Amino acid sequence: MTEKIWKVEKVKRCEHVGREIQIQNEVVYPADHLPDQPPRVIARRCSNAIECNMVEQASCVLCGTNPDVDPM
Ligand code: SF4
Repeated sequence: MTEKIWKVEKVKRCEHVGREIQIQNEVVYPADHLPDQPPRVIARRCSNAIECNMVEQASCVLCGTNPDVDPM
């Protein structure tokens, strides 16, 4: 059976909010009977994305309000 988990990719300081945030990846691990398949990253998020979505100012691609700014 496949397994999906959120893993922290990195901790970095975001200049937009002025503090440290986590960049997290949703990783899918293959089923046990498919051992040659590598894990796949299917989504990425920021630990502060909900707060950034609540402000009226556009932030970055990780919260979906500004596709031109990628904090990675
Ligand atoms: S969602 Fe984007 S702008 Fe907001 S804290 Fe995360 S990286 Fe920074």
